Amino acid sequence: MNKKNYRLLIFPAIALLIAAVFALTQRPADQHVRVIPDGRGSGCFSMHFETMGTDAHLVVYASTQEEAGHYLNSARNTVQNIAFLMSFYNPQSDITALNEAGAGENVEVSEKTYQVVSSAKQFFELTHGAFDITYTPLKEIWRQAQKNDRLPSDSALQDVLARIGSGKIELLENNRVRLKREGMSLDLGGIAKGFAIDQAIEEMKKLGCRSALVDIGGDMVVLGRKENGEKWRVQVRDPFGKFNGPVMLSVEDTAVATSGDYARYYTIADKRFSHIIDPRSGRPVKNVPSVTIIAPTALEADALATAVSVMGARRGMELIDSLEGVESMIMERTDDGEIITYSSDEFSEYEISEQVD
Ligand code: ADP
Ligand code: MG
Repeated sequence: MNKKNYRLLIFPAIALLIAAVFALTQRPADQHVRVIPDGRGSGCFSMHFETMGTDAHLVVYASTQEEAGHYLNSARNTVQNIAFLMSFYNPQSDITALNEAGAGENVEVSEKTYQVVSSAKQFFELTHGAFDITYTPLKEIWRQAQKNDRLPSDSALQDVLARIGSGKIELLENNRVRLKREGMSLDLGGIAKGFAIDQAIEEMKKLGCRSALVDIGGDMVVLGRKENGEKWRVQVRDPFGKFNGPVMLSVEDTAVATSGDYARYYTIADKRFSHIIDPRSGRPVKNVPSVTIIAPTALEADALATAVSVMGARRGMELIDSLEGVESMIMERTDDGEIITYSSDEFSEYEISEQVD
């Protein structure tokens, strides 16, 4: 594994969230295609809608509103279709069909779901079990712990761990999937958003779009450059206001995703626990408040942000350094509460010092 030196960044650090894009400082409240009224980009159109339990923001450059509408509506349909197929909560989704099937039962799923489950299995291998879509029974345990306001017992965690492991997902011919153990279930929450973003971009490219941004819940892909030839600027937001100014990234044809423990968490006995769970110990991730990943696709960026949160700064950075075209910024919280930020060697090439105006 190719090791590089971590670089301690100069700014004081705390949890980060990839947030709004430069062109999107004003969010449209409706779901209609409309021209962004700030005069920055003529021919710039955007759309906003809710999906996968979060907000989606789409931006395209096009010659006419009709052309933009064509791109944006197709992208939205693509995203909503994937959300429908892969939702843990939708009773009609592929995932519900799989989760409700008995052990050893073959379930035919859509080609897309098959593709995502298969990628998720690859990330399970790559991360030695840190990324694991079968972690779901642990989510139930920690939810219950929150309800009871009491930490789960070691034995309860051990029982559940026996039912976990993406090695127990079998991929069969003709898009059929089989879960080997009774009580297993899948949750694609750490990877489906990324897949949906990539598919939305592919769909718009097919229709002729050359310049676009798709952001779902802070994970995003930018296609090409903006109409004026400049790269897209992505703002890395500081949710607790600890930065002197926002960190900006300048990107083209790239994905950026962030995982953090500050937006969603469990509260038990007045303590906060991350919604990202280490499937090997059964316990929520500690001491990694934020991970930002830059990667060729949103699927990789999304899954790796979650995986690196589990792996921690040292092992996580080793993994990132071994992957071509992937960069990362990882925040670690020390035992005395100090936040240290590490970034991979080429992460700074994406950083720009300008502030949002
Ligand atoms: P967010 O963007 O909401 O912070 P992340 O991309 O960080 O989400 O992914 C967190 C989600 O991934 C969780 O809500 C859960 O659905 C899922 N998840 C949690 N732990 C794991 C894990 N160890 N492996 C795979 N998926 C996980
Ligand atoms: Mg993720």
